[in-house]
Amino acid sequence: MMNWITPNKKHTFISGPCSAETEGQVIETALRLKNTGSVDVFRAGIWKPRTRPGSFEGIGEIGLSWLKTVKEETGLPVMVEVARASHVEMCLRQGIDIMWIGARTTANPFAVQEIADALKGIDQPILLKNPINPDLNLWLGGMERLLKAGLTHIGAIHRGFSFTGEKIYRNRPQWQIAIDFKTEMPDVLMICDPSHICGNRTMLQQVAQKALDLNFDGLMIESHITPDKAWSDAEQQVTPEAYAAMIDNLVFRDPQAAQSGIDPILEHFRGQIDLIDEEIVSILASRMQVVQAIGNYKKDKRMTILQAERWKEIFQKYVDSARQYGLGIEFITDIVKAIHNESIDQQERILSASNKKISSTTKK
Ligand code: PEP
Ligand code: MN
Repeated sequence: MMNWITPNKKHTFISGPCSAETEGQVIETALRLKNTGSVDVFRAGIWKPRTRPGSFEGIGEIGLSWLKTVKEETGLPVMVEVARASHVEMCLRQGIDIMWIGARTTANPFAVQEIADALKGIDQPILLKNPINPDLNLWLGGMERLLKAGLTHIGAIHRGFSFTGEKIYRNRPQWQIAIDFKTEMPDVLMICDPSHICGNRTMLQQVAQKALDLNFDGLMIESHITPDKAWSDAEQQVTPEAYAAMIDNLVFRDPQAAQSGIDPILEHFRGQIDLIDEEIVSILASRMQVVQAIGNYKKDKRMTILQAERWKEIFQKYVDSARQYGLGIEFITDIVKAIHNESIDQQERILSASNKKISSTTKK
């Protein structure tokens, strides 16, 4: 499949600030990105659909003229998020090259339809982020609306899915959903957005590499001239130079070479196993974070770690559901005991830390 964004390159690299803030910030970011030679498309948010009101909601239409300047000065195509027909019209008037629909908008079929209608008959390039909730059909449905409007320069952006519980990722990647999307619509480009998956800088490289290893067509990573001072998503933005270093560090594997001599069906299954294993570790880590919170609570209340009744109840729940799934009872018993032992160890560490504190205060 040819990559329509960068027909001469397999992968497309998109970068730029979460939000356009000032003309100077937008242009300096673009010039510095261009200088690195590691960017194909410049992105910036002008209208920001924020989860709660009161935070910076975007600079608005004026930002489009700054992007026009970026295009003139760097030659880079520019890309903006649209959430309604009026945004589309303003972008078309200003010659914005690519539009994207954000995760909160994809979750609303009326909004996606309105955008699709505004683009009917105009083969405007547009990318569709996954909806915030892990709903493959809602994502596919959004893409169908764009296809029905006759659009052919289309792509999907995987930015992870919101979830409750302890956060390792800002939005859990649930890679399997993106893979299922690719299976259903193999001709649609698939770009990964590690910035919104991670929500921090430290995991960006790892997530970006994973996307390439899963044969994604490109990456979109937020960058800012002074990331710590960004008006939105400060924690996850990196400088243009740090972004370029990340791109330089990526390993490009040839999917054909990887498969030569290897059974592709077996590889597919192995890929699924790898994804599930990663989920298992991340779920165990989430469980241990809750265990630690309980440990701290028990320490405050001076409660014992092991509460036999509760342990019996947990064990029985595991056995019952293992039975429903047809898993061996001995197998599940071994696993529950290992998890429980680790939980006790973690709580013990918390309690003994408090004991030390108590003994040092008694000494005084
Ligand atoms: C963004 O790209 O800045 C953005 C708002 O992302 P999302 O729609 O994925 O939350
Ligand atoms: Mn952002």
